[in-house]
Amino acid sequence: MNQFQYVQPTKQKAAIEALVKNANAQFIAGGTNLLDLMKHGIVAPEKLVDINKLPLKKISHENSSLRIGALALNSEVADNKLVLAKQPLLAQALNAGASGQLRNMATMGGNILQRTRCPYFYDIALPCNKREPGSGCSALAGFNRMHAIFGYSDKCIAVHPSDMSVALAALDVTVVVAGPQGERQILFTDLHRLPGDQPEKDTTLTRGELILDIIIPDTPFAQQVHYLKVRDRASYAFALVSVAAALATQNNIITAARLAMGGVAHKPWRLSETEKSLVGKPVSEKTFQEAAEIAMRGAQAFTHNAYKLKLAPNILVEALKTAAGIA
Ligand SMILES: Cc1cc2nc3c(=O)[nH]c(=O)nc-3n(C[C@H](O)[C@H](O)[C@H](O)COP(=O)(O)OP(=O)(O)OC[C@H]3O[C@@H](n4cnc5c(N)ncnc54)[C@H](O)[C@@H]3O)c2cc1C
Repeated sequence: MNQFQYVQPTKQKAAIEALVKNANAQFIAGGTNLLDLMKHGIVAPEKLVDINKLPLKKISHENSSLRIGALALNSEVADNKLVLAKQPLLAQALNAGASGQLRNMATMGGNILQRTRCPYFYDIALPCNKREPGSGCSALAGFNRMHAIFGYSDKCIAVHPSDMSVALAALDVTVVVAGPQGERQILFTDLHRLPGDQPEKDTTLTRGELILDIIIPDTPFAQQVHYLKVRDRASYAFALVSVAAALATQNNIITAARLAMGGVAHKPWRLSETEKSLVGKPVSEKTFQEAAEIAMRGAQAFTHNAYKLKLAPNILVEALKTAAGIA
């Protein structure tokens, strides 16, 4: 691992300035992703700006929304009474990720901004456009079992690994960030990018922007929910495919739906058309199977991940059935 400077500012402004002043500085929160990347030689920041002294841990309910600080730990959020009462989907998704020990270190902001687990991104001996722009994508003709079926480009077919972000994509979340130009709010679904010609850019954040809070509005679809993750092992493994499903129903008719998939694209994959198609339909397996067909429109697999074309619609139906209470 390369040598690096380490600072621990106590003021937000100083943390942001430290990043703006040094183009090769990086924020560090729990460190569970960044330190791995440094040890593997994938990134080599000259300066680590430890943000753990900033007051960004609070979890509160105000203005009909849950507000969660970027430094709240994944385990604290998953166990928090407000979160369990107001947004059980978030707690389910958090508990499906990583392991107890990791969740005790990992923060909300770090979870959102964790990098892909594409094996070619991690293997510095091989080309990867995300790690080294212009070098090529080894996964295209490589072992692409974990890779995308939606929204990829010929430059990158990696997927976003976060479970929690799939739930956030479904829940109409807004992220509050602060940067050199001041504060702004970003819709969660606009935070992560598709790869296009610049797969090295995971998000729409600009240099020096710090995630402060995650805001989840109270909604009618917050209680009939289910996060379903399929993975190679029962725990401590990233999703092959996952689904976050949230429904509101009245007299067995769907009045609102929110759906997102994980493990299928470079960003958490919100299924807006599928959501619309569910409204006004009766709660039934047939309704959910029709929805799954809509969800899979445009999906295209590579040599080793064609199984996702069957797995994804199947778990979408199962997640919806469980959310609706007819599993
Ligand atoms: C063995 C293993 C298994 C795992 N399994 C899963 C899994 O199944 N599902 C899953 O979802 N995750 C899994 N993870 C990933 C884990 O959830 C992430 O490593 C963790 O959430 C990252 O949080 P952190 O606070 O440690 O981030 P850090 O490593 O500190 O930071 C990650 C990135 O976020 C940036 N950053 C952090 N906070 C902020 C902020 N507030 N504003 C701006 N930038 C910020 C950092 O600069 C860095 O680029 C696994 C990790 C490991 C090591």
